[in-house]
Amino acid sequence: TDFKQFAFHSLLNNVIRQLNFQKPTEIQQKIMPSILKGESVIGQSQTGSGKTHAYLLPLFQKMKTERQEVQFVITAPTRELATQIYEEVKKITHYANKDGKWISKLLVGGTDREKMAEKLKQPPHIIVGTPGRILDLIKNGAVSIYTAQSFVVDEADLMLDLGFLSDVDRLLTRSKEDIQLLVFSATIPQRLEHFFKKYLKNPIHVKI
Ligand code: AMP
Repeated sequence: TDFKQFAFHSLLNNVIRQLNFQKPTEIQQKIMPSILKGESVIGQSQTGSGKTHAYLLPLFQKMKTERQEVQFVITAPTRELATQIYEEVKKITHYANKDGKWISKLLVGGTDREKMAEKLKQPPHIIVGTPGRILDLIKNGAVSIYTAQSFVVDEADLMLDLGFLSDVDRLLTRSKEDIQLLVFSATIPQRLEHFFKKYLKNPIHVKI
């Protein structure tokens, strides 16, 4: 089993070669087909399982470069985690030779809000950030996520522990109703189950 089964476009196959990924990891194997189909999924796996690329590669496959609007929102509980994800996004963009064409923005606290709003005048295809800061920028009218087709909640258990799940909730009320929701978590505590019931009708649950 290799990446061929997913039928990624040639640019992404190039990226996968440059990343030096020989074959999909278990979570990638199990979850990528559902993400490509547009299904909402709960991915239960640890860091180190390859979960970041399990969602990033399918999202890039589905991205429509010509549409200058927010297509994907990726949230993480901390500035550090969001920054790590953003670096992977930039790496993919760079390896695909699409710097300046595939637009992504990192929206986290600790950076100048005004400058950030200015940079958002060109709508990014992909937003990576912490829920609070993204919500902030939406309230200020700097960005809108109604156009997004997929929404990632990475490290959902930590999101819950740090008290950010309510911000994620608020973000989801500002996105379209049938948005594809991709939730990743090492554990599924009961309060997360409540969240899932509210937003996920028939989620695919993948546990590795
Ligand atoms: P993550 O679980 O997303 O933190 O990923 C852990 C590490 O695995 C990262 O350094 C990735 O670059 C790497 N990785 C992801 N997918 C693959 C793959 N299919 N083959 C080899 N390494 C991978």
